[in-house]
Amino acid sequence: MNNILVVNCGSSSLKYQLINMDNEEVIAKGLVERIGIDGSKLTHKVPGKEDYVVTNPMKDHVEAANAMFNALTDSTYGVVKSLDDISAIGHRVLHGGIKLTESTLVDQHVKDVIKECFDLGPLHNPANLMGIEACEKNAPGKKNVVVFDTTFGMGMDEKAYLYAIPYEYYEKYSIRRYGFHGTSHMFVSREVIKFGNLKPDAKVIVCHLGNGASISASIGGKCVDTSMGLTPLEGLVMGTRSGDVDPAVLQFICNKEKIDINEMLNILNKKSGLLGLSGISSDCRDVEEGVKKGDKAAIRAFEVMQYRIEKYIGAYMVALGGCDAIAFTAGIGENDKDIRKNVCKKLEFLGVKIDEERNNVRGKATLISTDDSKIKVFLMPTNEELMIARETLRLTK
Ligand code: ADP
Repeated sequence: MNNILVVNCGSSSLKYQLINMDNEEVIAKGLVERIGIDGSKLTHKVPGKEDYVVTNPMKDHVEAANAMFNALTDSTYGVVKSLDDISAIGHRVLHGGIKLTESTLVDQHVKDVIKECFDLGPLHNPANLMGIEACEKNAPGKKNVVVFDTTFGMGMDEKAYLYAIPYEYYEKYSIRRYGFHGTSHMFVSREVIKFGNLKPDAKVIVCHLGNGASISASIGGKCVDTSMGLTPLEGLVMGTRSGDVDPAVLQFICNKEKIDINEMLNILNKKSGLLGLSGISSDCRDVEEGVKKGDKAAIRAFEVMQYRIEKYIGAYMVALGGCDAIAFTAGIGENDKDIRKNVCKKLEFLGVKIDEERNNVRGKATLISTDDSKIKVFLMPTNEELMIARETLRLTK
């Protein structure tokens, strides 16, 4: 019995996967939606079986977790006899602040710090903590592990994580760059080293291009720099987020449009990026459709997004003092061969050569550069749940 349960809670949702760590295969996965609101629903999926759906009201995460454990142990649709067949539970948590810098076993101190970090991750940390407590209630005595989205970025040196603002704000409020998508960057940067048979201290740049997008530079899987900051707003152009902007732009627009800073931040988070520039959609596929039809706004949005990725890769090569491999991951990175090709074309002068045939692939770990490319380029699907399960196993073995 070597099954790890991975839990990822949102404010009204609970996602789970049960993974057999002997072969790292997913035995069952599911989603509880609409927790605490009308129409609560659990959908439980087991490979090779029809979906099991439960539509009881679930007023909180404790009831949602109860439904999850019932589904996992159900005599017809379940995959384990009892909770004894689950060795430990790994939880995704957004923010560990400066006190929790590594994945760790849950105890009262850990829960207190997750709570202290509510203001750093107001949308996620409260739900993440509810998920942990719901599992503790439903499966007393079971070991719980937390894996933070910020852990990877905590590997950055001071020179990379500090903003050049008065130092007292770091001291008083821990204002610094944390980086997000950390579990994905950790997984992909390590996986590329294994898959590509690279040296253990390989210099790797990972482009996580999804609806949210970020890029990281690492040596031997340890983060040197990453593009997201105090919040996931900094860095690349994303579906609806602006990425980097001159902070003075905020004051200028607030004054002209007579809006306050909260509304401005809402615009930068939800109405900017591909959506804001194109006026078409936040979805990369829709914008690319527009590009194909010659739509000027779509072309503009696409070019700004792509240019920002290229610029960051250039900067990170210098930050690393070289580069052994570049990896593309997440929705866009795993599916969009054109973006991969265009970005790599810009790097041709550095000896990067993409193999068009190899690049004609989706969602599968693949070397997409030519054999004589000076820097190897990979498509590497991300798997945050597996990374959390591996960390949970490591800490509970
Ligand atoms: P997130 O997890 O941040 O919500 P995903 O990693 O699922 O996002 O990525 C979503 C993005 O991936 C969307 O912009 C979507 O358009 C893009 N995407 C998915 N499939 C394709 C595809 N075949 N070609 C281009 N983009 C794609």
